[in-house]
Amino acid sequence: MSGAALAQASPVPGCAEAPVLRERGQREVFCGLTGIIWLHRKIQDAFFLIVGSRTCAHLMQSAAGVMIFAEPRFATAIIEERDLAGLADANEELDRVVNQLLARRPDIRLLFLVGSCPSEVIKLDLSRAASRLNATHAPGVRVLNYSGSGIETTFTQGEDACLAALVPEMRADPAPGLLVVGALAEVVEDQMRRLFAALGIGPVAFLPPRRAAELPGIGPGVRFLLAQPFLAETARLLEARGARRLAAPFPLGAEGTTAWLRAAAEAWGVPATRFREVTAIGEQRARTAIARHRVPLAGRRIFFFPDSQLEIPLARFLSRELGMQPVEIGTPYLHRQHLAEELALLPADAVLSEGQHVDRQLDRCRAARPDLVVCGLGLANPLEAEGFATKWSIELVFTPIQGYDQAGDLAELFARPLHRRATLMV
Ligand code: SF4
Repeated sequence: MSGAALAQASPVPGCAEAPVLRERGQREVFCGLTGIIWLHRKIQDAFFLIVGSRTCAHLMQSAAGVMIFAEPRFATAIIEERDLAGLADANEELDRVVNQLLARRPDIRLLFLVGSCPSEVIKLDLSRAASRLNATHAPGVRVLNYSGSGIETTFTQGEDACLAALVPEMRADPAPGLLVVGALAEVVEDQMRRLFAALGIGPVAFLPPRRAAELPGIGPGVRFLLAQPFLAETARLLEARGARRLAAPFPLGAEGTTAWLRAAAEAWGVPATRFREVTAIGEQRARTAIARHRVPLAGRRIFFFPDSQLEIPLARFLSRELGMQPVEIGTPYLHRQHLAEELALLPADAVLSEGQHVDRQLDRCRAARPDLVVCGLGLANPLEAEGFATKWSIELVFTPIQGYDQAGDLAELFARPLHRRATLMV
């Protein structure tokens, strides 16, 4: 379908049932390979081998260009023209590259073969390649595969695909426990661990784990909390293994973090007074840190282009805790079930759009003249040249923003571009 269609539904308080503008047009997003940039830092004994072209290698180099590694944990096995022309056996080449890599890097315990547009064009079956390589290298190294190709995806789906590849590897375990799903910075993970421990909630495990051997078990006793809003496939697979999702807003800002923690506290039967005792100080600290940025942000109008899938939780945080006015909240995909608690907290008049049609969205953005635009890298420069203050949405995925202690930093990320523009205009 091309063009836009307005789904019919009657609005209720909040945005839970609000009409959504559906867009199906030209897309301007990074592909799922981008997720490797934060995932390789998270799983410390994993390696990501992109089976792709020089374009894929360049994307990764420029996306990761600011970071310097002694021993990088990702690389690209380049598919050359003779592979594309069917003149070489790509499987043999891939086996040779993997054998070389694993001989040189005995620290690798988990190897992801990451598919790309070129590997899909030549129909290289990476799941078969992974089973074949497992026969040689397991149990010392586990070889898995997922696709990071970019035609119909958005960049955060790479994490969903990677975590979904891990779910079948999780051992069956009927024991009760809490699983936090979604890559979080270690500092955030440690803070969450302390809060859950103080609440008496546990055992707590994280997906992805820091090390391959720490992959948690899964079964009907497990309740899971999504830490990121872009993990639809991973959640589906966890539910298929018997785990149950705890419905909650995402842990952004003081309010979101408290509601997210409360979902687990209620499932564990933590008394309300105990919950307040444990969370009150952190929540107050977050509110104080956020309040510092309220003056420059309150009343400012913000427009979200669809990019990271974090747009709806961010709009909820910015409108409710900083008094910003979301003009349009674009998201690449709208998972109504996972976002139900967020949608209910959005201002009733917020315009939601799902999918991309860059030209139409640019027209609406220009007509609305927002104070701040959240968008992908490709749109930021042209919009800045037209006089708009912009925020790169990808930065919000790279930066620790979840939890009480990051709430002030999250607010600052939005205050900074306005401050910079105000300074430039003096
Ligand atoms: Fe490689 Fe396709 Fe991503 Fe381009 S969009 S970098 S070709 S996987």
